[in-house]
Formats: sequence, structure tokens, C-alpha cells
Amino acid sequence: MAPLAKQTKVRKWYQGKRKHPYKDAFQRMNFLYQAAHLTLKQDPENEELVRFYIHTMRMIAQRLVLRIEPEIKRTICKKCSLLLVPGITAITRIRGKREHHRVVTCKSCGQVKRFNTGANHTLWSDIPNARISMFTEDKAQS
Ligand SMILES: [Zn+2]
Repeated sequence: MAPLAKQTKVRKWYQGKRKHPYKDAFQRMNFLYQAAHLTLKQDPENEELVRFYIHTMRMIAQRLVLRIEPEIKRTICKKCSLLLVPGITAITRIRGKREHHRVVTCKSCGQVKRFNTGANHTLWSDIPNARISMFTEDKAQS
């Protein structure tokens, strides 16, 4: 009886402490992503600084095992960590020979990303049931 009660108590305390786990890390990643966008907007030549911001953001995610949103992940070159903005740092083309897809090429290193855009294609992470909420607050609402 006693150990179980103690365990529950500890768990409750832990959950109370971590209502928003890794909040500061997410805030920092958010800041770095926005800083990268602004830097690229002000000076498209300054690719090194943009790379530094994005690389730092990816390192935080990697160290703490946090998932970056697919929407954001698609705007990052996985080879050279450059922010991919169509027309500035990336070339975007629609191809439909085998299956309708969007090709994004990094202008800096030539890395190619392909995204299926067929009518029947749904991204796995866009299926509501596939997602598990990270925060206890969101769980209570749904
Ligand atoms: Zn690249």
C-alpha cells in the first residue's frame, strides 16, 4: 500500500511541475526560426547567419528529442541547414510524370526535397488520430 501511494504522490508532483515540458526550448527554437526568416529578408546574401540560426534550432531539437512541425521542417534544407524560401534560396517546381509531386531544390547545395501533392495523398501527421498531445492542458480539453 505504502509504496504505491508514494509513487502516485510523486507522479502528481512531477506532472504539476511539468505542465509545459520544454517550454523554454520551444520558445528558443521559435525565436531562432523567426530570426532566420528576418535575416534572410533583410539580406539574402547573409546565408551563413541563417544557417547558424537553423542549425542551432535543429541541435536543440536533436538534443532534447523534440519533433519539429512538418510545416517548418519542409522549409529547412537537411543537408546544409539553410532556410528554403522559394525564389530566394530554393527552386520550386511541380512535376507530374510518375505521381504529382512538388520538387524543392536548395540553390546553395543542390539538395532535392520531394513532396507528394496527389489528391488522395494525406500527410500522416495531418491525421488527427495519429497525433498525441504533449501538454496536459490540451489533453483535458479534447
Ligand atoms: Zn542546402
